[in-house]
Amino acid sequence: MARVHNFSAGPAALPVSVLAEIRDELLEYGDTGMSVMEMSHRSAAYRTIIDDAEATLRRLLAIPDAYRVLFLQGGATLQFAGIPMNLMRTGRAGYVVSGNFANRAWQEARRYGTAELLATSADTGFDRIPDLAPVTERARTGELDYVYICENNTIFGTQYHELPECGSAPLVSDVSSCFLSQPLDVERYGLVYAGAQKNAGAAGVTVVIVREDLIADGPALPCCPSYLDYRLEAEKGSMYNTPNTFGIYVCGKVFRWVEELGGLSTMRERNAAKASLLYDLIDASDLFRGTAQRDSRSIANVTFRTHSPELDAAFIAYAEERGIVNIKGHRVAGGMRASIYNAVSMESVEALAACMRDFERTAPRSI
Ligand SMILES: *Cc1c(COP(=O)(O)O)cnc(C)c1O
Repeated sequence: MARVHNFSAGPAALPVSVLAEIRDELLEYGDTGMSVMEMSHRSAAYRTIIDDAEATLRRLLAIPDAYRVLFLQGGATLQFAGIPMNLMRTGRAGYVVSGNFANRAWQEARRYGTAELLATSADTGFDRIPDLAPVTERARTGELDYVYICENNTIFGTQYHELPECGSAPLVSDVSSCFLSQPLDVERYGLVYAGAQKNAGAAGVTVVIVREDLIADGPALPCCPSYLDYRLEAEKGSMYNTPNTFGIYVCGKVFRWVEELGGLSTMRERNAAKASLLYDLIDASDLFRGTAQRDSRSIANVTFRTHSPELDAAFIAYAEERGIVNIKGHRVAGGMRASIYNAVSMESVEALAACMRDFERTAPRSI
């Protein structure tokens, strides 16, 4: 087996033990005589799979009973529309635009109501989480149906290290790229959601955790498609239509893996150690520099660059020769990005660090 050191931002590395279990169960799941892919989503065997996935997630995050867990499709992107359609009861919400995905969510929400821009870091190229004072101030007027944030900015390598105080306005957060990487205080939010392909499984599943009272009256907008009606999906146990059965099965395995390793505080320790290794190296380096402001740095996506795009490209190629792949930055950000989600081992991060040191020693500075 020749597995590379995979720093992909998503779909991202999965734990090898999870992949091996899936392989072992691929043709015949338990004593069912069939693959999970071939099973009715209404069968008893599948019921156990989805119920176990939800129960494990509830234990991991200590999700209170007042919150519903949905396993939906359409990526995080579909929720950019689902959130305003369900929650914009008076037609006015506030958005913090801290990066590309937050911006997309904001643009999408503007199609459905008044989406106020509460704060942005666009002026400095999204190198930080914006100052949250105006967010708190506006939220406390009680005039917003919700306040929207993107908690970890996958492309720019920034992350919230504290949450805005929103008074009675529910906080809605896209946690796609930091989900399960550290503890999450669900009660601070009205709704949190995450695409699975960063840290929780394969592409094609989006986990939505929503406070029941926010959806009890059905969607805010009558035009909301049934598929995106959170109340309906909750009533139907995420089975209004055929869910991504295999994807939810993979999520359940990853949730178990996280739990067996010690849960979310263990994940935070492991991820913080991996992130520090890279940030310390970058801070001490004459060649590499971090692109995110220090107090906004992400523990999931480490973004950095050299002094020239040509040298960045040379480093990316150099790393690839050593089996270190997917460290090219997103096309809108350039440079390099190492995504160090839960399944990326310290060994892989050490390999990247060694590669950076070697390159720094030998690289031609004139490029
Ligand atoms: C990847 C990502 C998205 C987009 O997810 P899709 O599944 O492609 O819709 C949205 N938000 C964040 C923070 C992400 O990391």
